[in-house]
Amino acid sequence: MSFRTASVALAASALAVSACATSASEPVSEMQAPPLEWSIVIHGGAGVITRDSMDAETEDAYTAALTEALATGSDILSNGGESIDAVEAVIRGLEDNPLFNAGRGAVMTETGGFSLDSSIMRGDTLDAGAVAGLSNIQHPISAARAAMEHSPHVMLAGEGADQFAAEQGLAIVDPYYFFTERRWQSLLRVLERRGVEAPERMQPMAPQEASLSDEWLSSLAFPDDQKFGTVGVVAMDMDGNIVAGTSTGGTTAKRWGRVGDSPIIGAGTYAENNVCGISSTGTGEYFIRLAIAYAICNRIELLGETAQEAADHVIHTELTGLGGDGGIVMLGPDGYPAWSFNTEGMYRAYETSEGRSEIEIYEYNEGAF
Ligand code: ASP
Repeated sequence: MSFRTASVALAASALAVSACATSASEPVSEMQAPPLEWSIVIHGGAGVITRDSMDAETEDAYTAALTEALATGSDILSNGGESIDAVEAVIRGLEDNPLFNAGRGAVMTETGGFSLDSSIMRGDTLDAGAVAGLSNIQHPISAARAAMEHSPHVMLAGEGADQFAAEQGLAIVDPYYFFTERRWQSLLRVLERRGVEAPERMQPMAPQEASLSDEWLSSLAFPDDQKFGTVGVVAMDMDGNIVAGTSTGGTTAKRWGRVGDSPIIGAGTYAENNVCGISSTGTGEYFIRLAIAYAICNRIELLGETAQEAADHVIHTELTGLGGDGGIVMLGPDGYPAWSFNTEGMYRAYETSEGRSEIEIYEYNEGAF
């Protein structure tokens, strides 16, 4: 049963016109598939990720990270845990992993700091929480969840968001915790191209030992060091509740307090039981303008498209048409996973209660199902 009422029906006729342009591909309808007990789908960012630009060690590192993320989520869900807990736990793990642009390993702002964004949404109640511009909270996804559960608001930003998260007892870190040499070098390259003087290199508040993971990261061959790497998870639990969450450091050398789509409900994250759950990654400015996650859900609910059809239309017609790049992962009405992206690759994985799972990095295929 949808929460949304007749007010959205107005949009249906407009959408119906563009629906005629949908590609003729015929993905398996979720309605024909057997019901799932639980499912989970994950992304670790989309971008110019090609086989040629990755060495075996880097590919293995991402595959291992996605494997671990799936294991964390499926362990919770297969034991009857709630999707909200699965989404938070998986994203916390990805935030701790410096391979991804979220938490530790996040990209840096023009002034040489960090400004982290995250959001989470429940499909059963349409409750949502979001934080933007965090600078010292170890797990932004937990701050988003706390905003949803322990504040009367949906979105908190800047110092106030850091303060709220601290008051909630969430772990606070020296911002240097997020620092990696890889992202610092990436910032320097962007600033050089921009003709802007580099800020002072961030220093730890207290002396720290050289990080082993920094050495390891330096040995990897990253295909796309400037943008993407955002993480997102959508999960459905045994009660049929769909939850979606997203976490990011944003885009390299962002300035003026720039906020992307990741903490924007309807753009970076959206969930509504029996309709969809979505997490986005890509150039946030386009995802915000197209309200990408909400647009896909609307097509499913109002036009009766399958998850794959709706996602492909919005990504390949609307996003591509506007000049944006990136992708989404999603669960459709029955919890079946799908994904769509217009970049060369997207780190992505899914697992379902029927024992199906897939981990993919490279070129576009017709989606999970
Ligand atoms: N969507 C994110 C942003 O624009 C970036 C990303 O997905 O990598 O902030």
